[in-house]
Amino acid sequence: MTFSLLPTYDDPRTAELVGRLRDYLDGELADYESERGITPATRLTRADLEPVWRRSRELGFYGIHLPEEYGGQNLTYTQLAALKEEVGASGRVLSHCVLGDMGGPLRAGDILKHATEDQLKTYLLPLIRGERACCFSLTETDAGSDVRSMRTVAVRDDERDGYRLTGHKVFSSAGPFADFAIVVARMAGTGEEEGDKPLFSAFLVDLDSPGCRVEDGATPMSGEHIESDIVLDDCFVPAANLLGREGKGMRIALGRVTANRLLHCPTVLGATRRAVRLTLERTRTRKVAGGQPLLMMQAIQHKVADMATEFYAARSMTYAALAALDEGREVRAEALMCKLFVAESAFRILDEAVQIHGKEGLTQGNEIEYLFRKIRMFRVLTGTSEIQRNGIAKLLAFDH
Ligand SMILES: Cc1cc2nc3c(=O)[nH]c(=O)nc-3n(C[C@H](O)[C@H](O)[C@H](O)COP(=O)(O)OP(=O)(O)OC[C@H]3O[C@@H](n4cnc5c(N)ncnc54)[C@H](O)[C@@H]3O)c2cc1C
Repeated sequence: MTFSLLPTYDDPRTAELVGRLRDYLDGELADYESERGITPATRLTRADLEPVWRRSRELGFYGIHLPEEYGGQNLTYTQLAALKEEVGASGRVLSHCVLGDMGGPLRAGDILKHATEDQLKTYLLPLIRGERACCFSLTETDAGSDVRSMRTVAVRDDERDGYRLTGHKVFSSAGPFADFAIVVARMAGTGEEEGDKPLFSAFLVDLDSPGCRVEDGATPMSGEHIESDIVLDDCFVPAANLLGREGKGMRIALGRVTANRLLHCPTVLGATRRAVRLTLERTRTRKVAGGQPLLMMQAIQHKVADMATEFYAARSMTYAALAALDEGREVRAEALMCKLFVAESAFRILDEAVQIHGKEGLTQGNEIEYLFRKIRMFRVLTGTSEIQRNGIAKLLAFDH
């Protein structure tokens, strides 16, 4: 893999898809956002998102990674990553709607293969068609990295053939636009005594069910309004909405952890690529001492050289791990390493980008200022850097 801020692909299918996706993101989607005055801080509504889901579906991008029987194009991980990178590099606010990250098929992850016929018909196929949307509700105020300490509990209700769920989930991304949530809860009667292992189940919960409330969630530092709290108060969920087997919910919800972990990286790589490009442009046009462009200063040259080098390293290792995954090889350690290195290097790159932009980089409304805040979150999201390090060290200790 060679270094580029506008990558080309040898694989003709990837090249064609990336080309079409760039045209859509820079053309139609850019126009749609500017007509509606959409910025990262806009309080988006379902009415803003639905037309993008539908159009992206028409163009074949929404759920494109899925098997053909579900209307997808059965992409490899590497091909999907190339598209995710473009989404991240586009700078479009609604780019998360294009492949189905925001409440769509990518958010539902791997649960398709655990779904019953009825669950497919009622929940997942409409989700793939962009008619329904979901959020994923695992985290609680006191259960983040240590998610097994969650308090949300499911009590069996044999009389009505279902479960009663009580608990309070926070940071359910896409909650404001979702029809249903994938909720993980501890089975009542398990994990209550010292040494007793808790068992978790995963449920499809209609967000308009009696006993379920969707509340405005916290606003993260990115300033986006896409989070909800899901409050469950003795909420009845029919047994037909249990995903997979009772007690196997954590495994189902986290799905293919390794693949998911790796697939979070390309979007961040894309945003980082954009930041490097914007910074290079700035160094060419910004004049300082004696009317020289910033890029003529050796201190600045070293900074942009380091930024580009770190980006190349992060991108190379991510695509190397994805290629190995596509070959069916075990890449547990590599996925943890990629998530760690992509997050940490992106943070360093964005910090330098802000520095080089001077006051512009500190000004709200400037894209670099937004990207800095957005990318900073990745060191915590989807598994913190410390948790990745724990995992790498454990594998080194026991497997090598
Ligand atoms: C914008 C945003 C969107 C999110 N979207 C979702 C979503 O859609 N669905 C969902 O369920 N959750 C979501 N989350 C929650 C996210 O997954 C958690 O924030 C994350 O898992 C970390 O948990 P925590 O924030 O509670 O941190 P904590 O677990 O409290 O960790 C705090 C610090 O302690 C460190 N730490 C914790 N345990 C260890 C350990 N064993 N060893 C070393 N260090 C440790 C961590 O690395 C971290 O630095 C979202 C969060 C944000 C901010």
